[in-house]
Amino acid sequence: MAKLWKCEVCGYIHKGERAPDQCPVCGVGKELFSIFEVAASAAGPAPRAWRCTICDHVEQGEEAPSVCPVCGAERSLFEPHKERKPPRVAADVQRIVILGAGIAGVTAAEQARAASPYVAVTLIGRERRVPYYRLNLTRYLAGELGEEALPLHPPAWYADQKIDRFEAEVTAIERKRQEIVVDDGRRLPYDRLVLANGAHAFVPPILGATRERVYTVRSVEDCLAVLAAAKGAQERSDSPQLRCVCIGGGLLGLETAGALARRGLAITVVEGFGWLLPRQLAEPAARLLEAHLGTLGMSIRTSAKVEEIVGDEAAKGVRLASGEVLPAELVVIAAGVRPNSYLARQSGLEVKSGVIVDDRMFTSDPAILAAGDVAEHRGVVYGLWPTAYAQGLVAGENAVGGSLEYRGAPPSNRLKVLDVDLFSIGEFTPRDGSYAVLERSEGAIYRRLVCRDGILVGANLYGDTSLAQLCKEGVEGAAQLATQRELVERAPELARYVEERGTSRA
Ligand SMILES: Cc1cc2nc3c(=O)[nH]c(=O)nc-3n(C[C@H](O)[C@H](O)[C@H](O)COP(=O)(O)OP(=O)(O)OC[C@H]3O[C@@H](n4cnc5c(N)ncnc54)[C@H](O)[C@@H]3O)c2cc1C
Repeated sequence: MAKLWKCEVCGYIHKGERAPDQCPVCGVGKELFSIFEVAASAAGPAPRAWRCTICDHVEQGEEAPSVCPVCGAERSLFEPHKERKPPRVAADVQRIVILGAGIAGVTAAEQARAASPYVAVTLIGRERRVPYYRLNLTRYLAGELGEEALPLHPPAWYADQKIDRFEAEVTAIERKRQEIVVDDGRRLPYDRLVLANGAHAFVPPILGATRERVYTVRSVEDCLAVLAAAKGAQERSDSPQLRCVCIGGGLLGLETAGALARRGLAITVVEGFGWLLPRQLAEPAARLLEAHLGTLGMSIRTSAKVEEIVGDEAAKGVRLASGEVLPAELVVIAAGVRPNSYLARQSGLEVKSGVIVDDRMFTSDPAILAAGDVAEHRGVVYGLWPTAYAQGLVAGENAVGGSLEYRGAPPSNRLKVLDVDLFSIGEFTPRDGSYAVLERSEGAIYRRLVCRDGILVGANLYGDTSLAQLCKEGVEGAAQLATQRELVERAPELARYVEERGTSRA
């Protein structure tokens, strides 16, 4: 019996007895693989099916998956399901148009096709290339992966799936006529429209941000521009090593900085907050990370405010509020992303930061769904790959008449490129006295587990992430720790916490 393992980060499926040590697509370790499906051998018992009670997703297999591939719910939240209900294809749905060909859009197209062989599926993206693994761009920038490793599927896959994919910019949504307008003047009618047009890099209002050689990293084209500029600057420069200032010490900023350090550039990271990755790491873990980045030749400035990107036509450095100027031939701004919600707002859909969706990924218009970085679900714009994938799946099936639900998941993060094992999930900063913070620190290893009412609500792992999958299941499943034997056995501080709670209640 062959097992299938799914990478929780990029969706890659591996076949084998065990999960691979490293995902060949996104590079994460084996702890982020979970059993996806158990294929029964021809002679074996007939496969059963399991329904996730959180999102209604149905998995085939002899046993329920350890984690729901749609919503991340743990195995105990599955119940037996005799037969997968064929999705009820709504009679009024013949044409589905998907705006945006990132992971949310491609997954929505694939799922719509899986749910109905008859409905016409059109996928439009404005990038002039086959859809690709955006989350791998920093590995591409670092030279870890070639351009050939980036596509999600080969070009012929779309035709095989009868997905009509084309490259063009959508300029308007005309809801009354149920049409979208494309930049070449074409109008495409839809019965259901899925907005999967993602997000763009945010550039804060910094003086000098429009100078040449100032970049953001969101697309392959951005990476090619950074690499070409680095090459050009190297040819013009007398300095032995090119210098780059990276504004922003978040995940993307650090991965980009690490990628360019691998290319031999001297990097300074400027972060306004008191420590790196403030949204992902507790301070002790961030200090360990800072020390590690120092060993890679990167200089880190925390609590530093950028005043101006100085230079003439092109950037020559970054002036801080302290007056200090950090000289640089290249500047990268990594200050977060913003949803591409403009078209939706223009068309009168309900939009806050992202396009507001319900649990079924429907927007305020019953003919329009949204998924991925453009969507705002229960007040959260996730900006994460696994979420875009899961929401795309739900939107694709529901667009043809299905009834899947996405109920949210605590965001989890990992760092690629920098040879750092780091994992963070859920709430790790206590909001009041009801939280218990359990910390362990040993050399370059740090662990913080945060519990509330007997449930693990957050985790920060640095240096050793072997508990990552268990913590992820624990936080997402929100089950009492007393029922999570493996996690509690492997983390003695949790065992003590569970015991003390038991005693104090007795
Ligand atoms: C360098 C990098 C590294 C990352 N690493 C990670 C990571 O390690 N883990 C993680 O969880 N997340 C990571 N992310 C975030 C992750 O890639 C995104 O959350 C995910 O790609 C969002 O997918 P999406 O399909 O919603 O949007 P997108 O990937 O943004 O796709 C939207 C598509 O719609 C197109 N589009 C937009 N407007 C229009 C229009 N008007 N007409 C036609 N087409 C349009 C865009 O050009 C784009 O191709 C990373 C992001 C970047 C940039």
